Amino acid sequence: MPLAYYKRLSKRDQRIYRRSDDIAAVTLPDAASCFPLIRELERSLCADDRVAVEQKASRLVARIVYQLHTDPVRVRVRAVRPSDAGGELHGLYTWEEGKRAIIEVWMRTARKRDVVAFRTFLRTLLHEVCHHLDFAHFRFAESFHTKGFFRRESSLMRQLDPPAPQMQSPQMQSPQTQSPQTQTRSTDDSPSAEPTQLGLPFL
Ligand SMILES: [Zn+2]
Repeated sequence: MPLAYYKRLSKRDQRIYRRSDDIAAVTLPDAASCFPLIRELERSLCADDRVAVEQKASRLVARIVYQLHTDPVRVRVRAVRPSDAGGELHGLYTWEEGKRAIIEVWMRTARKRDVVAFRTFLRTLLHEVCHHLDFAHFRFAESFHTKGFFRRESSLMRQLDPPAPQMQSPQMQSPQTQSPQTQTRSTDDSPSAEPTQLGLPFL
């Protein structure tokens, strides 16, 4: 069953949606090689060092796209999340024809200005990586929030953030973490990213 906004899409976008929905995983050839970098990223976030977080996040994303033989993407780590009545923005992906794509992620909550939890930050980053993969790896003309999209995000999360051995009790397995609130901005044509935001449970 597609998500509610599917029926409002054009025929062309429905085709893209279905292709997106059919891909349930992104498999990294060597996810374990990213683990030291992920721990460094976690330390930098805990130390509240925005510059270091940006460097580590950039290196991590570069490694992911390299392993997938995909075009590079710039990563920017910002301080306090923008917010409005609709909530806080966790991440933003901007794809512009002919330019290098940009992932932006925020490391502080808007309300209390606290540094976000590491797993939340990592999931947001991987969510934006999935938008990039939609365009640059799968060559979709749009990036929709489909169930397949969220499965791909979760598959990356599982590969890159394996639970610590002592946490593998039955109660701790498969936590249903809600996807972060993010946006996609595509500037190569018209309504593009907007439908991806409609009818989603986390908006
Ligand atoms: Zn998104």
